[in-house]
Amino acid sequence: MDNYSNLTVIGSEEWCAFEDLGTPAIRARIDSGAQTSSIHASDIEPFIKNGEEWVRFEIHPLRESRKVIIKNECPVVAIRKVKNTGGVSERRYVIKTKVTIGQEKFEIELTLANRDAMGFRMLLGREAMNERFLVDPSATYLLADYTDSQIHNFYKSVKKLNSGLKIGLLASNRELYSNKRIIEAGEERGHTITFLNIEHCFMKMDATQPEVRYRGGSILEELDAIIPRLRPSMTHYGCALVRQFESMGTYCLNEAASISRSRDKLFSSQIFAMHGINVPITGFAKSPQDTKGLIEMVSGAPLIVKLLESTQGKGVVLAETNKAAESVINAFKSLNANILVQEFIKEAGGKDIRCFVIDNKVVASIQREAQKGEFRSNIHMGGKASVIRITAEERRLAIKAAKVLNLPIAGVDIIRSNKGPMVLEVNSSPGLEGIEGATGIDIAGLMIGAIEKKLKYERK
Ligand code: ADP
Repeated sequence: MDNYSNLTVIGSEEWCAFEDLGTPAIRARIDSGAQTSSIHASDIEPFIKNGEEWVRFEIHPLRESRKVIIKNECPVVAIRKVKNTGGVSERRYVIKTKVTIGQEKFEIELTLANRDAMGFRMLLGREAMNERFLVDPSATYLLADYTDSQIHNFYKSVKKLNSGLKIGLLASNRELYSNKRIIEAGEERGHTITFLNIEHCFMKMDATQPEVRYRGGSILEELDAIIPRLRPSMTHYGCALVRQFESMGTYCLNEAASISRSRDKLFSSQIFAMHGINVPITGFAKSPQDTKGLIEMVSGAPLIVKLLESTQGKGVVLAETNKAAESVINAFKSLNANILVQEFIKEAGGKDIRCFVIDNKVVASIQREAQKGEFRSNIHMGGKASVIRITAEERRLAIKAAKVLNLPIAGVDIIRSNKGPMVLEVNSSPGLEGIEGATGIDIAGLMIGAIEKKLKYERK
């Protein structure tokens, strides 16, 4: 080592990159007191692969962000006894990998240290310095220095790759209880949940390169899954977006076709009838000339008139007499509203049952009871929720209703009639607040679990 002119001068701290370890930038302390270089790793776990000893470990390259976790597997080249700073001897795995420091790229041996190397994620030892570098201990970052935002950019994709699944929550209001819970439950399980406002998404239809872009123009990165939570007014555009994600190979927890089918009260009642699922007798006609016939069909008043677009019970009317029924039906029709006429299940006494179905299982059920003097049990109509044990028949009915609509996630509303349980409606974006509140069940977590299962994602 007599020709120093070939050596690169480095500071006492420099940035290193390990391309094979998926680590584009990590601060190293240059430590000529140590022979071998070491990197801070956690969850170090040996295993046998093809008869050879390997080691699995995680690198947390940024001291300031515990969220950036990079998982790696490498063959073990040696196990070395090393005295730690406390003088206690430990066994450490040694791996070999390529490192880049400034313009230099070379093979390096690294011991995996399961403790912070004096606050540094990495120590560069004498071995690595050999005939390459000359240290100027008074300087730092002579070869390169990065700003926080550069570092952030380096790790943007890494973070998502390694911290679980990338899930998009396609909805309208991130402040809604249900949406907040889904985000929380996903993050709790180590996934990255991106809130996507439906109205801020736009798409490119293309046979080979379909895209979804977000307001501002950026192309959405590839997502593993989408949880659509479409409010009724967003059904059409929301379903188009969900279809777009489907065409890009993203798993959608409730497919577009199933959502739009479930939103069409007529279509879904036809599907239920086809599959022998009991519903209250329902009539539908386009022309006001058939109003009398409709009323007769459901055995006369009292009867229920529903706006097809109704939600939260707002478009549901109880007509007590045939005369009243006729006027209500004709009034709606004169406004060109789409309605259906339905037998009134009086014996339900203003109660109905909401079953939350996930993957063909009823995971929670509540009874909703209407306020005094009201027949609609919707929570928005002042209904009260309480936990209820449902019968085996009701359970089967709820599961079947979700299944024939092909909905892995469904809120199935059941009403108890003298003729047995009947399906009132199936909701493809069922709310979580009332049912989690009443039962204490972590439904948001179960929804995330359904995605993990579908994508065969294994959580540690
Ligand atoms: P929405 O989609 O607006 O919630 P629903 O069809 O669920 O409309 O009806 C709202 C509420 O009205 C139900 O939760 C139920 O309590 C009551 N209801 C609906 N249909 C009937 C019926 N045929 N008989 C008795 N009560 C009914």
